[in-house]
Amino acid sequence: MTTWQGRNITVAGLGVSGVSAARALAGLGASVTVVDGGSSPAHRERADSLEGEGISVRLADAETLPEGTDLVVTSPGWKPTSPLFAAAAKAGVDVVGDVEIAWLLRGPDAAPWLAVTGTNGKTTTTQMLASILSAAGLRTAAVGNIGTPIIDVVLSAEPYDVLAVELSSYQLHWAPSLRAHSAVVLNIAPDHLDWHGSMEAYAADKGRIYEGNRVACVYNVADKATEDLVRAADVEEGCRAVGFTLGTPGPSQLGVVEGLLVDRAFVEDRHKQAQELAEVGDVQPPAPHNIANALAAAALARAYGVPAAAVRDGLRAFRPDAHRIQHIADVGGVAYIDDSKATNTHAAEASLAAYESIVWIAGGLAKGATFDELVAKSAKRLRGVVLFGADRALIRQALVRHAPEVPVVDLDRTDTGAMLEAVQEATRLARAGDTVLMAPACASMDMFTNYNQRGDMFAEAVRELGAASA
Ligand code: ADP
Repeated sequence: MTTWQGRNITVAGLGVSGVSAARALAGLGASVTVVDGGSSPAHRERADSLEGEGISVRLADAETLPEGTDLVVTSPGWKPTSPLFAAAAKAGVDVVGDVEIAWLLRGPDAAPWLAVTGTNGKTTTTQMLASILSAAGLRTAAVGNIGTPIIDVVLSAEPYDVLAVELSSYQLHWAPSLRAHSAVVLNIAPDHLDWHGSMEAYAADKGRIYEGNRVACVYNVADKATEDLVRAADVEEGCRAVGFTLGTPGPSQLGVVEGLLVDRAFVEDRHKQAQELAEVGDVQPPAPHNIANALAAAALARAYGVPAAAVRDGLRAFRPDAHRIQHIADVGGVAYIDDSKATNTHAAEASLAAYESIVWIAGGLAKGATFDELVAKSAKRLRGVVLFGADRALIRQALVRHAPEVPVVDLDRTDTGAMLEAVQEATRLARAGDTVLMAPACASMDMFTNYNQRGDMFAEAVRELGAASA
């Protein structure tokens, strides 16, 4: 057991996970200082409340390491290149994240973790997994990068049987001791490269999720990089590599056969070659990428010993969160879909693949991405495109190269109100039977507070339109 009593711990960041880590560690007897570069009134308010609990807070300086620090606990937003970590390295002080602390705080009989990472689909898959585990009568929660901070979950008195844990590449980067029961890397596409430094470093951080797995390392058959990570991982003896595919599954795989999700990895009846789990129609929405998410969730649940019927019941009970391919309304025979959570090209590609004739609303912050592949793959489905946001020119240029015949409306706007105009323009381009899909392939912060606000504004604009046309 790690001893926290008397340690001098610096927590980087006064956000939700930083505050949770600071409180937990102070509660265990550590002497905690939280550092943050900000000094706004909101920062001061939080600092006051922590200081009232005996936790020191240093604002307006995110760079220097407090004297005497023997461990740094970081928050997800902090880059590995942050000067604070350079100072820690120089002083020979370890840096870890909230997930590492949570892992170290688990008691000897703590619930095992079924862990999920990937560029896209993490939240959906983790929630599907929790739904399946609940349907099997297990006490569980979807935690990690979602919901209650993971340290609070681990320290709570709640008697969980097993946890469905979503992990970002950032969290994995800083969690060297984590050993999951079973884990999946759903897919790997370029994202957050500014944080990780390179595609190799990003993939390697994701691959950490397989280290020490006990029962199954689940990978995506269609994404060889995920299988490579399984091969490279150092796992417990007897741990199996299990693939998921949208095609017919091979041995040790889950896949799809004639509209059914089937399992050839964990077959209960040894006289049978495959176990039927659920119908494709049990998965909401039944878009290809989401069937893949369901198969990944099913694989982890099956690795944990969940019966086939619970997989079906859990998938049927699952409803995706808002802003993830969310159907907002049908107006004049046109469907309006909010996929504001498509904040990168890989996610947008998945939702563009789910519809036939699309008026696409896109643009925002590209985060270093290029759009050629996305546009080339989706060109034949596009009825038209409406662009807004800071990096819209990058998408426009890709459209000129790969879809010159598709009409494009460039709003030349980066204000929040542009959403209403975008929906009006998209409606003008759409014909009955088309889908207006807001899947921007970009981050939202140039125009909106976050992707939630972007999605809400889209839904509001669609409702206004519906009211006007009624
Ligand atoms: P994450 O938690 O990884 O950001 P979400 O489950 O919130 O993932 O989904 C984010 C977006 O990614 C969705 O709106 C959808 O467009 C897309 N998406 C979901 N699952 C996949 C997948 N398996 N492959 C590609 N894109 C996906």
